[in-house]
Amino acid sequence: MEKVIVDKDKCIGCGACVSLVDEVFEFGDDDLAQVKTDVDFENMDKDLANDVQDAVEGCPTGAIIEKK
Ligand code: SF4
Repeated sequence: MEKVIVDKDKCIGCGACVSLVDEVFEFGDDDLAQVKTDVDFENMDKDLANDVQDAVEGCPTGAIIEKK
């Protein structure tokens, strides 16, 4: 799947993405979500990719975006 990043200007730190997919999202020192550094989006298995997609769609502020 396409790599995603968290737009920290939009994240409100609700934790939904971290609870849903803690293999991919974590809280940074700023208490906002971020994508873990070792995530391999290109070779991600389908179930995990679906969970990431759910996190993208479930983020209340639309902060999880495709990295261009
Ligand atoms: S779901 Fe969205 S707003 Fe909530 S912590 Fe994750 S990126 Fe931030």
